[in-house]
Amino acid sequence: MLDFILALTGFGLLFHVQASFWESLFHEHVLDLTPERRVRFHTLRGIWPRLWATHFDHGVLHHYRTFRQSYVEMFHDADEEARLKAGLRRQFPQHLAEAFTQTRYGSTFTWLGLLPFAIPVWLNLLWLLALPPGAATAGCLAANLVFSTPYLVFSKWVHPYMHMRFEDAMQETSGLLRRILGSPYGVAIRISHYVHHQDPKVNYNLQYLADRLRGRWRAPTPEEWDDMISLSLVEPHHRTQLEGRTFLGHPF
Ligand SMILES: [Zn+2]
Ligand SMILES: [Zn+2]
Repeated sequence: MLDFILALTGFGLLFHVQASFWESLFHEHVLDLTPERRVRFHTLRGIWPRLWATHFDHGVLHHYRTFRQSYVEMFHDADEEARLKAGLRRQFPQHLAEAFTQTRYGSTFTWLGLLPFAIPVWLNLLWLLALPPGAATAGCLAANLVFSTPYLVFSKWVHPYMHMRFEDAMQETSGLLRRILGSPYGVAIRISHYVHHQDPKVNYNLQYLADRLRGRWRAPTPEEWDDMISLSLVEPHHRTQLEGRTFLGHPF
């Protein structure tokens, strides 16, 4: 039992740091690439089309081609989505155009899109070759499941609700997801993600740590707080709870 606990906590710490840094760096260098650097990255389109598609999905479709009129409204009307779909069909092969629709234009991930974004999870499995079978191996596997995957889980299942009005998100969900969204953490990530959309060079992490250590974190300005409240993205009592405070080492 002691071996299991030691492996779980030791690997858990390592895997959390690794996952948070990977999430932050993958966003900065792939998903949220700035337009200037996108030109260089474009050469990858021929070599690794899937990675290019992952970038386009998030960095172009999610950030700039959807939620254009309002942060809490993916499309203003059905025509807007139809026009985007038709444009994608002209611009990309059919399988990619369909993949963009399946991800709701970068709001979530398909399992294929998760392959490069989840690289640390796959690499951590190599530890199993070096560990003796038994409690330490079980602890390492459990640590990989619990500490390497939160950013993937939140990107795939929680992110779409972060673009909904707080009350709507709470009404549409139930069980564990509802508890996550209503928790101080759930409120904090919807705030930091709003800031990310105003300023895509900061607040990449849903699994906190690396952005703060890398100087890629900023708190919302008073105007952004006003905007979030007028959008009903958060409620006034959330502002009272978090503005000017620190949550998990991150200033809000
Ligand atoms: Zn982004
Ligand atoms: Zn978003």
